[in-house]
Amino acid sequence: MQLRYNFRVYPTPRQQIELARAFGCARVVFNDGLRLRQAARQAGEKYICDAELSRRLITEAKLTPERTWLGEVSAVVLQQALADLNTAYRNFFTSLSGKRKGRKVAPPRFRSRKDNRQAIRFTKNSRFKVLDNGRLRLPKIGNLAVRWSRTLPSDPSSVAIIKDAAGRYFASFVVQSIDQVLPPGESEVGIDLGLTHFAVLSDGTKVSAPKFLRRAARKLKRLQQALSRKQKGSTNRKKAVTKVARAHARVADTRRDWQHKLSTTIIRDNQAVYVEDLCVAGLGRTRLAKSVHDAGWAAFTGMLEYKAQRYGRTFGRVDRFFPSTRMCSACGRINEKMALNVRAWDCPCGGHHDRDVNAALNVLAAGQADNSNDRGAYVRPGLVPAARREAVTHLDVACSTRSVEGILVL
Ligand SMILES: [Zn+2]
Repeated sequence: MQLRYNFRVYPTPRQQIELARAFGCARVVFNDGLRLRQAARQAGEKYICDAELSRRLITEAKLTPERTWLGEVSAVVLQQALADLNTAYRNFFTSLSGKRKGRKVAPPRFRSRKDNRQAIRFTKNSRFKVLDNGRLRLPKIGNLAVRWSRTLPSDPSSVAIIKDAAGRYFASFVVQSIDQVLPPGESEVGIDLGLTHFAVLSDGTKVSAPKFLRRAARKLKRLQQALSRKQKGSTNRKKAVTKVARAHARVADTRRDWQHKLSTTIIRDNQAVYVEDLCVAGLGRTRLAKSVHDAGWAAFTGMLEYKAQRYGRTFGRVDRFFPSTRMCSACGRINEKMALNVRAWDCPCGGHHDRDVNAALNVLAAGQADNSNDRGAYVRPGLVPAARREAVTHLDVACSTRSVEGILVL
């Protein structure tokens, strides 16, 4: 499995200038490529292939007076910028033809110097190197100071240097991870992701988003309101933009750290973990959107998934084809619809249920059934029409839940 490891880097003022130059050159080559392909399309010519684009925009362009300065940065950075463009085009084409599942992918767009995030990538053949003194050597940029918060499990195959909206620099390494299979455990768990609690486990554990996170989110909201009152183009607005970006980065970092701890604990303590496949992409368009995105379930279930693989655990997503809240986890009876404020209920069979724990138990049972039937061969029970309040999932929208900030599964 390939993972991404991110570290903060601290370039010197001189290195910052070199990095800005590299960001700029990568952007120019990317935009040149996009312009050339758009022009070819408008002229009714055929799609310019990757190799030709590289020859015209890097090798030949460097010989022209308008683009000689491309020679001042690593050629790999320029090639990787075109590789990004090629990937963007391929995703767009496969999305158009329906070969790519999920949300529709838009055609590539021009990059701007005002973009919040600037990035360049160095591959193995650019000969970047982690030196013995812990610095990161990048061609034509120099030796960068890195804050190594953890050790890389193996030799990285590439590194991206990123500057975020808050003005911070990061090195993002791609490494092959070594699976560390844990001794098998006994317990299995189902997880219900909800709005009242971040997550409820079938063993009765209820997890709420921590106070400090909610406080940070409130502060961010306040800063955003302050920003909206500032005059466009003013210096004060610029300052406010940076403040918002910083607060945003802080909230994202804190949330990610917290989710990492939680997901690691759950995976360590359980041999199998099942979650409801909520299709967050679908939920995101409803009025629940804000709280859903704040909760960050997609990132969280993505963490569970890759950690399960890494530690030799079972992970399963359970399709939301049954009303997990209303179904009695003891007898299987589907009970009356309940208002959102009903937190506990009794089933005629004598079962007394906490609403969320009952849902988690149903997720666990469905996951286990799914698993023992060898997945895919699993026969679904007859479709149960979703109650209005529950009909917020769109099964046709494939969820992209794999990307996790911090460590990313490729
Ligand atoms: Zn019952």
